[in-house]
Amino acid sequence: MSRRADRCLSPKPRGECPGASARGPSPLERSRERAGGHSPDDREETAMHDHRKLGRELALFDTDPLIGAGLPYWLPDGATVRHTLEEYIRIAERRAGYRHVYSPVLGKRELYEISGHWSHYSEDMFPPMELGSEQVVLRPSLCPHHAVIYRSRSHSYRELPLRMAELGGMYRSELSGVLGGLTRVRAIQLNDAHIFCTLDQVADEARAALEMIRSAYEALGIRPARYRLSLPGPGGKYVAAPDKWQRSTALLTEVLDRSGLPYDSAEGEAAFYGPKIDVQVTDGAGRESTLSTVQVDFHQPERFDLHYIGADGAKHRPVMVHRSIIGSVERAVAHLIEQHGGAFPAWLAPTQLAILPISEAEMPNAVALAERCADRGLRAEIAGPERGTLGARIREDRLVPYQAVIGAREAADDHVAVRLRDGRRLDPQPADAFLDRLGALIGAHTTDLWDDAVS
Ligand SMILES: [Zn+2]
Repeated sequence: MSRRADRCLSPKPRGECPGASARGPSPLERSRERAGGHSPDDREETAMHDHRKLGRELALFDTDPLIGAGLPYWLPDGATVRHTLEEYIRIAERRAGYRHVYSPVLGKRELYEISGHWSHYSEDMFPPMELGSEQVVLRPSLCPHHAVIYRSRSHSYRELPLRMAELGGMYRSELSGVLGGLTRVRAIQLNDAHIFCTLDQVADEARAALEMIRSAYEALGIRPARYRLSLPGPGGKYVAAPDKWQRSTALLTEVLDRSGLPYDSAEGEAAFYGPKIDVQVTDGAGRESTLSTVQVDFHQPERFDLHYIGADGAKHRPVMVHRSIIGSVERAVAHLIEQHGGAFPAWLAPTQLAILPISEAEMPNAVALAERCADRGLRAEIAGPERGTLGARIREDRLVPYQAVIGAREAADDHVAVRLRDGRRLDPQPADAFLDRLGALIGAHTTDLWDDAVS
């Protein structure tokens, strides 16, 4: 299985922008593919962690042959997770000085001829559509659009670093035989950004991007498998500018060394335009892929003739830093499903609070509590007695982070008896006090269910 999902800037040998591992298939992976599945040894473990199985069981996403292979659709609970994740990223980016843009998912063939995709990557692109005398293609990356957006206005050195972000669609003509779930898709929503800056600003920008990645992983409960400094290798088609390669490699090495993060170097994994830092994760079956990436690019600014006006009044060429915090939304959610076995961090969970009235008599209190949750932006659902015994309902909602049980006594006092997903129980407490605490915990984007020792 060639694992090259989510390439952004993709001319070979290693052209991916955010979110991809370009590592070739291992013999074991190839034999699994030939066998049409996993080896017997890991069948049980994979069954527990496979995001495709969990995604369907939990009604997060699905596919339909009529829509097409590699074109999953998101069901309401999956859409809630995705929306919440996208919103978290946008807010984090905004706070870090990024400005968001929208750009179309189509572009003229000439755009990709300039960027280099057409000559290096067209076999992975959908065939062009004839439109009168023009050809338009579904874009294989966002970088060319962002370069053109940058070029559309003149820029002073005072505006740099200019950070441009977009959660945007891109497309890849994956062969149907390798499609499945959310990791190998033909329609990709990419968490992408490009920082246009001076060479002197690259290190700070790369460092800040790594910090955003660390912070997001902490909030999402993702553990990086390793950090990788991806360098050019022998025989690859790389942009010929030895001095720039040397300088950008030194910059990224310094960033990694200063960060104190353990990393290793890998030859032959660089983008064609420059070296990159990749953050690798492993899936339930132990296969590694790139989720996040920080890259330095001297090539695109040259190809699109980008410039800024320096303090000396003359034109200068900016550097482009490509970076992604979570790579593609599809791969990130697939990884989160597998990492947490469907038990998402509370802030990300489709349903955050299950309200469990013990009998019909407490139903009005349950409805009132659900309305108070909605007012506070908390996602609550009522699991009433028509859905079975209290024990059965607690088991059914075992992935929901919080369960508020309302019996006659709680109803009389406007209290709730709260159970946490991990089995802990809180003392019965005023409903408003609990909702205040819950709102604060969710707003903090923590993976901790509760911050006090409770039992
Ligand atoms: Zn890019």
